[in-house]
Amino acid sequence: MCKIPYEKILKQTNSDKSKSLFLTSSLLSSLFLFIFSAFSCFESTPVSAFHAEVLPHEIKQGDAFLIKVTNVPASSQPISAFNEKQLYFSSCGDACFIALGAIEIRTIPGIYTINILVGEQKKTLTFTVEPTSFPTLNLTLPDEKVFLSPENLKRVKKESKKLQSLFQAVSEKLWNGRFILPLANDFSTAFGTKRIMNKKRVSVHRGLDIRGKMGERVKASNHGRVVLAEELFFGGNTVIIDHGQGIYTIYMHLSECKVQPGTIISKGDTIGFVGDSGRATGPHLHFGVKVHTISVNPVSLAELSL
Ligand SMILES: [Zn+2]
Repeated sequence: MCKIPYEKILKQTNSDKSKSLFLTSSLLSSLFLFIFSAFSCFESTPVSAFHAEVLPHEIKQGDAFLIKVTNVPASSQPISAFNEKQLYFSSCGDACFIALGAIEIRTIPGIYTINILVGEQKKTLTFTVEPTSFPTLNLTLPDEKVFLSPENLKRVKKESKKLQSLFQAVSEKLWNGRFILPLANDFSTAFGTKRIMNKKRVSVHRGLDIRGKMGERVKASNHGRVVLAEELFFGGNTVIIDHGQGIYTIYMHLSECKVQPGTIISKGDTIGFVGDSGRATGPHLHFGVKVHTISVNPVSLAELSL
């Protein structure tokens, strides 16, 4: 768009027969071209305008998403929030920033907007939350694991409170690059599956069950710090890793935890072994992800190009 006046001006200049006039005219034209180009470019697309996008463009209920902001002026950093939760940006190269967000599984499908601020500039991004059909599963478990005694109910409530407060903490970024799945096996129960236990109790599966043999090595999904390694009523031997910026990964039903709270671990490190501890029908890994206290489909996180 900025080239049009240049060609027009050049044509007019070439038609002039006087050399000196030609030079003067050329100089004036060049000056005019420079001012005009700068002015017209500034009017249509500011030189310092940043670019931002939500990825993927269509997000399923219960999925993690990514906001990528590029062409960010030096010494600036994007600011954004979604559902009243701050998004935490980190560098992804020269003038590039990324942040992770989460769509709660009960989010009503439709079009949503998100505002991004960089210095004085603001952009409103639009994305779609797609309706998702989640499967239903009938399960039969020991009655005492489904219909809890007052004592077990008290324990479950206490553990739930502890986990909820743990996921509130937002620490410094430790994750780096893509998140990996902790076991390279098939999935047995998908995220979001509606489970009907002993024909009466209904719960939504807010994690991913991955098949595994007893004692198989379970890997850390990304760099982070272990914040919990203990036996829980439902989760059995459980490890939770804080990856920073409000992102946590959860590993349940382990036969054994290989790490302690406070341990700094790298992506791919062994954190424990597949087992059937807690409320499990057989050996497998329950893998959960929390992003800003919201449970998201671990597959969606692993698919993001980080
Ligand atoms: Zn599970």
